[in-house]
Amino acid sequence: MALVHPKQLLPTSTAGSLPKPSWLAEPEKLWSPWKLQDQELLDGKKDALRLALHEQQQAGIDIVSDGEQTRQHFVTTFIEHLDGVDFEKRETVKIRDRYDASVPSVVGAVSRQKPVFVEDAKFLRSLTDQPIKWALPGPMTMIDTLYDGHYKSREKLAWEFAKILNQEARELEAAGVDIIQFDEPAFNVFFDEVNDWGVATLERALEGLKCETAVHICYGYGIKANTDWKKTLGSEWRQYEEAFPKLQQSKIDIVSLECQNSRVPMDLIELIRGKKVMVGAIDVATNVIETPEEVANTLRKALQFVDADKLYPSTNCGMAPLGREVARGKLNALSAGADIIRQELAR
Ligand SMILES: [Zn+2]
Repeated sequence: MALVHPKQLLPTSTAGSLPKPSWLAEPEKLWSPWKLQDQELLDGKKDALRLALHEQQQAGIDIVSDGEQTRQHFVTTFIEHLDGVDFEKRETVKIRDRYDASVPSVVGAVSRQKPVFVEDAKFLRSLTDQPIKWALPGPMTMIDTLYDGHYKSREKLAWEFAKILNQEARELEAAGVDIIQFDEPAFNVFFDEVNDWGVATLERALEGLKCETAVHICYGYGIKANTDWKKTLGSEWRQYEEAFPKLQQSKIDIVSLECQNSRVPMDLIELIRGKKVMVGAIDVATNVIETPEEVANTLRKALQFVDADKLYPSTNCGMAPLGREVARGKLNALSAGADIIRQELAR
């Protein structure tokens, strides 16, 4: 494995998305429609990507991303570029067993005719020498965001998507991406499937990659359906316990987790000992900006179960639905909190 060599311990990053400027898309909204069209939209997305990078750099974030400025949604935008999915033919399904959504239908064999994000990744690469991370949806989360009238098998469709994701991931790697992250919030819900074929399809997606790879498993964006669901999970969230043993044995390098204000017992991290852990130390479901000391507290707790050279401070999830000022404050808090712990470790 080629390894990212960040300049310092505890390299910070975000889970992926950042708010978009209000001239590009309506703020604080998921699936927010674009406000521009045609060439203006293409130019606007590039400008927004530049801004997202700049804000991360201003905040001192070590591993930067595109802030997902060129996509409307972390799953659907990727699927929109594939053959075999009909976006006009919509069906209502329950996403992650939690909320109804009108989703497109799989109507034939799925395939990728051309790269989806590779040009965007090249553009980000051209703007910075810092390590860059690129997020893709994971196979299980993709199938959970679709109605499948063709394969009629969640597992079969997941294997097909894994092959497609692998094609895209190899090209992202060639474009200079240092860490490719697969978002698999569905791993926190479908435990039997995770163990039967979920982790296996994820490994298929990263087959042959030499760059580092990550899987992001969270409790979702801070939207109402998710926060309501969290209220039903009781005093201890032990969902990670189900997937961790298999993930520990898998080829994935980094596991990205939701830890800030979550009820996840930190000692579960022991189950993935040996992996790098992106510890979510920023809550994306509240506008309250963490103090650096709150961030540091979460990192300190995680350090009991992750070696310092494997701990990557991060956010619980994407910050797309937040206001830009709030997101900026949270990025600064993440940096400052990581700094506190770096100083403690240097003593
Ligand atoms: Zn997430």
